[in-house]
Amino acid sequence: TLQKETLGFQAEVKQLLQLMIHSLYSNKEIVLRELISNASDAADKLRFEALANNSLYENDSELKIRVSFDKDARTVTISDNGIGMSREEVIRNIGTIAKSGTKEFFQSLTGDQAKDANLIGQFGVGFYSAFILANKVTLTTRRAGSSEAVRWESAGEGDYTLEAADKASRGTDIVLHLREGEDEFLNDWKLKSIIRKYSDHITLPIIMKKSEWKDGEQVPTDEDETVNKASALWARSKSDISEEEYQEFYKHVSHDFENPLTWAHNRVEGKQEYISLLYIPSKAPFDLYDRERQHGIKLYVKRVFIMDDAEQLMPQYLRFVRGVIDSADLPLNVSREILQHSKDIDAIKTGSVKRVLGLLEDIAENKPEEYAKFWNEFGRVLKEGPGEDFANKERIAGLLRFASTHADTDEQLVSFKDYIGRMKEGQEAIYYITADTFAAAQHSPHLEIFRKKGIEVLLLSDRVDEWLLGSLTEFEGKKLQSVAKGDLDLGKLEDEAEKEQQKKTEDEYKSLVERIQASLGESVKEVRVTHRLTDSPACLVAGEHDLSGNLERLLKAAGQ
Ligand code: ADP
Ligand code: MG
Repeated sequence: TLQKETLGFQAEVKQLLQLMIHSLYSNKEIVLRELISNASDAADKLRFEALANNSLYENDSELKIRVSFDKDARTVTISDNGIGMSREEVIRNIGTIAKSGTKEFFQSLTGDQAKDANLIGQFGVGFYSAFILANKVTLTTRRAGSSEAVRWESAGEGDYTLEAADKASRGTDIVLHLREGEDEFLNDWKLKSIIRKYSDHITLPIIMKKSEWKDGEQVPTDEDETVNKASALWARSKSDISEEEYQEFYKHVSHDFENPLTWAHNRVEGKQEYISLLYIPSKAPFDLYDRERQHGIKLYVKRVFIMDDAEQLMPQYLRFVRGVIDSADLPLNVSREILQHSKDIDAIKTGSVKRVLGLLEDIAENKPEEYAKFWNEFGRVLKEGPGEDFANKERIAGLLRFASTHADTDEQLVSFKDYIGRMKEGQEAIYYITADTFAAAQHSPHLEIFRKKGIEVLLLSDRVDEWLLGSLTEFEGKKLQSVAKGDLDLGKLEDEAEKEQQKKTEDEYKSLVERIQASLGESVKEVRVTHRLTDSPACLVAGEHDLSGNLERLLKAAGQ
């Protein structure tokens, strides 16, 4: 259709736009950062698609971003010659939010601007941030390989228009029609300093007109200049990169709004040569548990972008890690299929996982408070580790943290090492209990005897805990023992007198036990006298090799 049509934004987009304008107006400079970040992504996408179809370059393979401004029209324009968008892609990418967790996100908003600004950051600001600066945005785009261009325009309120457009060059132009009072952005020096501050790490050249002074005013000339360093940040030496540069680069690769918790930058030489720059975010994204999620590790070969979200490079339990890996050995035309069976990739993955675990061990050891923050965000994901990565099981186990009867709060701060350090004389096992809520674990009658004897028990109530315990059965030679399973044998923790007493009680109640057994019949396997309890009259116990009561409940709830 050539006719101009008006379409409505998805309700969530409308809401997001409102919030964005009201909560982030003090972060105006990020608008340019976000749009340049998108332009750079668009170039990466083109390179990736062109690996299979070189004609997409249309004889223009020098990818770049151009920023310009027009004082009279009061506009700032960001142009790229990346992949561009088809009409359908414009509607899908710019008119709707398809992210999982969107509903939860909007429910979590409080109306408090400072708090909400923070949340929006986690959700991702992206393209819509344009409306912080502009009261009208015109986007004209032509997808690589297509002859039809489309113009999208919106005032960032309820709707937008779409119409066919003429555009000879491939890619996307975004024109920001500045709001009243934003004229400071119509300034050469201002724009260049924002680009250097936030987008210096962008690997493509960001080009602006050179300017010269004329009658006390800076005016653009006809000559181009590259404003950013336009070199791969990760390939530079560590000492040449500032903290801020590392942080801005993180925001670009992760699409995150906040600074990362920490990072590791390494140049690996030897059999496999590669550079890795890996970040641990400070906040979990909304879609951490969405299997379809993207934005993991970007793969480069000798500075050339190969692909986003190369899932072969990081195991699932480290899916929160962001960054780039740049290999010197892989072929430039490497595909996802090749990656799946590549020994080189396996070696890079193994090395990178070690780096990340090392980084986490370092924080855990030296900055326990930061580690606690990390654990709150990503601990449940890390607990998937022992089941997924047998080679690093012990190391991952060392990084785990749990709640326990020691502090008796739901904060997960206790490591296996801490636990072992507090074990009673004669204690051989690490005791734990699983339940579907923390309160249920904490108040379980199974804990009575342990509390009485002052023996610490780990209180496990995350869904993933059962899965964890299925693959982790000991730590440093100490067996992990459920207090709710099997015949509780406290071994050397009981003295002779207690054992004797137990025996006596068993004899005394033999006939009662038999009667209870008879009346419960098939519903139970066995009835026995226990010394587990000090206050409660009875409790349910799972067999040593049976599913725990908690896991049984989980499976039932899942319809198994
Ligand atoms: P994100 O970058 O995190 O995906 P954005 O809101 O920044 O989110 O952008 C939304 C989507 O719009 C992008 O994923 C992309 O598909 C599309 N898009 C935005 N800018 C461009 C561009 N310059 N060229 C091509 N596609 C773009
Ligand atoms: Mg973006």
